[in-house]
Amino acid sequence: MSKFEVERERVVNNLIASGILKTPSVIRSMRLVPREEFVSAGMKSHAYIDSPLPIGSGQTISAPHMCAIMNEALRLEVGHRVLEIGAGSGYHAALVAEIVAPSNVNSKKWGHVYTVEIIPTLAFSAEKNLEKTGYRDRVTIINSDGSKGYPEKAPYDRIFVTAAAPDVPQPLIEQLKPGGILTIPVGGPYMYQELLLIEKSATGKVTTKSICSVAFVLLRGKYGWKDV
Ligand code: SAH
Repeated sequence: MSKFEVERERVVNNLIASGILKTPSVIRSMRLVPREEFVSAGMKSHAYIDSPLPIGSGQTISAPHMCAIMNEALRLEVGHRVLEIGAGSGYHAALVAEIVAPSNVNSKKWGHVYTVEIIPTLAFSAEKNLEKTGYRDRVTIINSDGSKGYPEKAPYDRIFVTAAAPDVPQPLIEQLKPGGILTIPVGGPYMYQELLLIEKSATGKVTTKSICSVAFVLLRGKYGWKDV
């Protein structure tokens, strides 16, 4: 095992021991996706510290435990079509791709991840990172304002947002399939943020629960934060 693989295994085992990681497909994805390939060259030695790390443009790659919490809450399945808002480094998109379109499953059964990034340079680097790690065929990167969702490929089985919004953007609810799940941090700068789990029933009824308190960078764009 390489040094990175040993460190990755340690993080995964800690997340299992703490009860955050439970589902075999979520655990498997965290064992396979190399986080060191999604951080900048100078940050590689920090890749398996379980915290966010800077990725440029004032943004961060999420901590492994935060990706684990969200991916457990999403109840992802092979074949799901998933929308992410906030591609950042592409790491979280790769984890989800490994769950909905696993490397060891026939590609005919694969789902797909659409990930939207508002900052052009980050959309470009996310694409490069996904290419070099072999996820480019299962993830589509879109450079636009994801606070409005991505209606072109809607509806989605699952939607997750990795930047904190002032409120839940209505277009995201509309772009969720009946039976779908959305996770989104809601709250602002210097204040309490809550990770919400929103479920749309088969009949279209929407229910909201809080998962935990969190600290994310801010969602920008039409339904995001302005002037802060
Ligand atoms: N999921 C990322 C972490 C993202 S940090 C990863 O695994 O690395 C949040 C990201 O959301 C930042 O890259 C930021 O530029 C992006 N973002 C903020 N507002 C956005 C918007 N309206 N549409 C799309 N991306 C947005």
